[in-house]
Amino acid sequence: MPLKFDPKNDPFREEREAMVRYQIEARGIKDPRVLEAMRKVPRHLFVPLEYREFSYEDRPLPIGEGQTISQPYIIALMTQALDLKGDEKVLEVGTGSGYQAAILGELAKEVFSIELEKSLAERAKKLLEQLGYDNIHVIVGDGFFGLSEEAPFDRIIITCAAPRIPEPLIDQLKDGGRMVLPLGEMPYHQDLILVKKKGKELEVEDLGGVVFVPMRGVIQKRRS
Ligand code: SAH
Repeated sequence: MPLKFDPKNDPFREEREAMVRYQIEARGIKDPRVLEAMRKVPRHLFVPLEYREFSYEDRPLPIGEGQTISQPYIIALMTQALDLKGDEKVLEVGTGSGYQAAILGELAKEVFSIELEKSLAERAKKLLEQLGYDNIHVIVGDGFFGLSEEAPFDRIIITCAAPRIPEPLIDQLKDGGRMVLPLGEMPYHQDLILVKKKGKELEVEDLGGVVFVPMRGVIQKRRS
């Protein structure tokens, strides 16, 4: 696979290093594998050209279709909470730019990422292929339903805000597995939740307030 990105000739290398040091490490992210992945993945290639110069700033950025690529720190926080060792099968809901998927692709064995918006899915798929990520599979669809044909998953990450945990995703999470998602009804504030599945029980931990775009599709129509 021709690698479009040459790390030796990267005008953003220093900015990316500063992002990791001052936005991520300084705020307490410690998992060395997460830090390494964020130093490696060229975030600017996932940001549309008109915003590229802001790629390494401490904020989310528009990626088209009214959607956003998340703030670097939040991506690091969610990824660290997944506690990836390298042999996991991971499901992501909300591919968006594909940046979070690339980080997961660095840290897990196999990644399945579902995106509702066809144009975003196609763009992300192409870029991830160009970068050589043959362990990441982008699928167009409503992530509420997960991907039963690939289940169970060791880890699930949802990158759009849901009013409740989608039931099919609880079923598709392996016993002992972890799921991270922004949970909340309100459009501009949710809580980042870490869910650990222990048999029939779900152990839930609140990781703090976040702001994500809402999950669309069937969950908006089904209230319970
Ligand atoms: N992880 C992304 C950020 C995505 S923003 C990144 O790294 O860039 C949230 C994404 O979730 C948007 O692209 C949006 O279109 C998508 N989305 C919203 N509802 C969805 C659903 N029901 N199923 C799959 N994707 C959904």
